[in-house]
Amino acid sequence: MGGPFARSPREHSDEPLPGFKLAYPMLAADGASCGFSGVTLGRAHVYRAVDDAICAHGSRHACPSRWCDCGFYCFHEMGSARDLACEPDHRSAVLLEVAASGRYRRYERGLRYARQRVKTVRIGRCECGRPADLLADSGAGSVGWRRLLPVCRNCAADRPVLGPERFAELAGGVEVVLEGRPTGLADDEEQAPVAASPEVPAEDPGTVAVLSAEVAVLHARLDETLSRLEEVQARLDELTRRDRP
Ligand SMILES: [Zn+2]
Ligand SMILES: [Zn+2]
Repeated sequence: MGGPFARSPREHSDEPLPGFKLAYPMLAADGASCGFSGVTLGRAHVYRAVDDAICAHGSRHACPSRWCDCGFYCFHEMGSARDLACEPDHRSAVLLEVAASGRYRRYERGLRYARQRVKTVRIGRCECGRPADLLADSGAGSVGWRRLLPVCRNCAADRPVLGPERFAELAGGVEVVLEGRPTGLADDEEQAPVAASPEVPAEDPGTVAVLSAEVAVLHARLDETLSRLEEVQARLDELTRRDRP
């Protein structure tokens, strides 16, 4: 089996094949529909939740062609897409679970294929690191489309935003999941109430003074305890020395 392309034979599937990829969420200029754009190749092209690939280089050949790099791309594993999302350039992308079908070419970590249906959109984190709840105008885009940016409620403040349910609807009925819980980082919301939260009344100066005094007393007691501990340790050392033959 010779030839440089022997490892990526052309195949066809009527059965949808599962895949995972990153994309930027997009809102049409008239606000009536949502779509997605690629994070690498074909950034300028916006595709719908169900769409057919077109050649990113303007050729009329059927995608994916052996001689071209066009077509939809996806990974076999969700972990590969998540890894890619750690790169600074891709932090504002969302993760898509897709069903690939039609002509496809297989490569080591995924597929390049002709037809795609976006099943689930997973929204990760805001640029500040908190879980994103909303989509705001990123300021970027392409002709006819604005690129949306996942944001948390704090960073959204009073900016105009699109909620996940509305995005799902405008994209043509995809499932949208908010999953921006930081992995491996402590979530301060679980440890202490957010200082700016309106439910937590501001401490009055009197309470702070009382608390400071209590802390001072505790410090004094701690110092006392530590010095006693030192005494005990010294006596213990003495006894140990005496015990030795
Ligand atoms: Zn092409
Ligand atoms: Zn934020």
